[in-house]
Amino acid sequence: MKNISILGSTGSIGTQTLEVISKYPDKFRVLGLTAGENLELLSRQIAEFRPEAVSVKDAHLAGSLQSSLGDVDVEILYGQEGAAEVASLAGVDQVVSATVGAAGLIPTLAAVKAGKDVALANKESLVIAGQIITDEAAERGIKIIPVDSEHSAIFQALECSRGGSYVKRIIITASGGPFLNTPSEELRDVPVEVALNHPTWKMGDKITIDSATLMNKGFEVIEARWLFGFDADRITVWIHPQSVVHSMVEYIDGSIISQMSMPDMKLPIAYALSYPERISMDGIEVTPERFGELTFFEVDYEKFPSISLAFNALREGGTMPAVMNSANEVAVGAFLSGRTRFTDIVKNVETVMGMHNTLPADSLDAVLESDVWARATAQSLIRN
Ligand code: MG
Repeated sequence: MKNISILGSTGSIGTQTLEVISKYPDKFRVLGLTAGENLELLSRQIAEFRPEAVSVKDAHLAGSLQSSLGDVDVEILYGQEGAAEVASLAGVDQVVSATVGAAGLIPTLAAVKAGKDVALANKESLVIAGQIITDEAAERGIKIIPVDSEHSAIFQALECSRGGSYVKRIIITASGGPFLNTPSEELRDVPVEVALNHPTWKMGDKITIDSATLMNKGFEVIEARWLFGFDADRITVWIHPQSVVHSMVEYIDGSIISQMSMPDMKLPIAYALSYPERISMDGIEVTPERFGELTFFEVDYEKFPSISLAFNALREGGTMPAVMNSANEVAVGAFLSGRTRFTDIVKNVETVMGMHNTLPADSLDAVLESDVWARATAQSLIRN
């Protein structure tokens, strides 16, 4: 039996994780859940999975949850401290980190410091503090298993290296998002609801916008660097609109090993939960017709400058990737609330990055200070 805490249990990855867990009550038990403001869904999850502890966004929401639950036996916590406590509960074997954005960093780091293995969907924590998290994990011999479909694919394809250093490069695939075939000059005025309509994946709002700007792919490049230890020169991105080949590893002899499946996040979630074993999953079956024609081509870096920005941030290192992430969170928020145009998202991120004096990202304080600076700078840029 594996005991699990889920950070972000009411989000897209969180609910799909619980769906997988509910099919295997003999293998997995839920000890902790954290959520933001969705008390109604969290209450249902508490009734079904009977966790020991839960955490919500703030004290007010914790009070509302307490009174609506009555005498249900569950510890109710709140804030980042509460989430960190849920992540480090005694008896938890693995923490599924599925919070959106920089908010996932502190609880994810708490899980690592408490010696818990991590199934990582919150890529932002590695973008912001990749060095800190991977150093802490290595010190404690902790496994960080990717939930992101591309990284799960690379993780699986790397198993063919059998410990040797035979990898030439990793190739991250990208669907290209909803605007792959939209002329550049039309991108400026795309409405929010159109940007939220992703062709192959159904996800939360923030990551859907990141997928439309391809910023998500940029973050995945940085995430891959920290998960697998390859520098920027050995990571490349190919557009693959069908989202069937989830990524590839090219070996020195020219062999390319990929992992393929229908696009369904429950598969990488199940693999992260069951690793190194596999569990059977229904509904992800494939036929030749469903795979159909698979195509691959180069990224249009002029139309989607976000990927170049991410490579620049990775090469620059230090606090620059954290600044890129924080500026992006503010810029996406401004677009979603109708305050800026679609093309302003990446422009704002680029401007904030250009204003940043990179510092070493060797402490949590350094990273958090750069996060605060980047948010304030992005906000004032958007206001003006
Ligand atoms: Mg992905």
